[in-house]
Amino acid sequence: MDPAFHYPLQRSWNYLVQTWADPLFQAFPLTAALLSVLSFLAFALLYAILDFFTPAFAASRSIRKIKIDPGEQWKEGIRTLATNHALLPAGATVLWPLLRHSGIHDGPAPGIPIFALHIAFFLLLDDFLFYWVHRLLHVGVFYRKIHAKHHEHRDVSAVSAAYFHPAEYLLLTLSTLAGPILLGTHVYCLYAWVILRQWIAAESHCGYYLPWNPLNRLPFYRGPGFHGLHHEKPGVNFGMFFPYMDRLLGTDGKSRARNLLWTAGKTLK
Ligand SMILES: [Zn+2]
Ligand SMILES: [Zn+2]
Repeated sequence: MDPAFHYPLQRSWNYLVQTWADPLFQAFPLTAALLSVLSFLAFALLYAILDFFTPAFAASRSIRKIKIDPGEQWKEGIRTLATNHALLPAGATVLWPLLRHSGIHDGPAPGIPIFALHIAFFLLLDDFLFYWVHRLLHVGVFYRKIHAKHHEHRDVSAVSAAYFHPAEYLLLTLSTLAGPILLGTHVYCLYAWVILRQWIAAESHCGYYLPWNPLNRLPFYRGPGFHGLHHEKPGVNFGMFFPYMDRLLGTDGKSRARNLLWTAGKTLK
């Protein structure tokens, strides 16, 4: 066979071998993608134990209004999680010539103060971007074609946090990576951020208000009731972590008292 026929294949194979052998590729997109899946599953599984066995302490702290079918939500969620996360290494391989120059590095690690500042910045920036991406996804065709899938779960379990259309998953990944890319952070900060982000994602959909949850110590953090109310009333609470954008722009729910009840995890009448 004409050797020229093989040439493009050989070139793409060389590219794959070279990219996957690059230590920064292994430390940045590959490890981050792996941590993203494993940490999400770890957090979601902890909450799933509450869903499947419903111990008395969890039943009394449930903030759901309707009974969910956890088995059904997990079946759908895991299938979506697997499909969407397969896109990460594939996309990173194709975009590596660009991503390699993003500034995210595996050089000397920062001190604790810089580490903490970076994580705080990622949280604030992602929250701001999430608000706007989320509002856009509630507009007409974007809602019908993309975001409606996530809202199929009117009452949620932790695994609902993985139940997205691939386009929404891509947008949320870009929003999560914006801070690390802007600051050219160390991969350690990226790993910590990915784990924290997945914890918050699972927790905001978990359906329980657990007062001892360390995330409640984050200043202004509103907990699972805040996003839970969004799934019940999709015109309010577009933020994920903090309420300030919803407050500023008047999207923080028609009844603040009701909203606060959800936040506190108390029973709704
Ligand atoms: Zn949600
Ligand atoms: Zn929504």
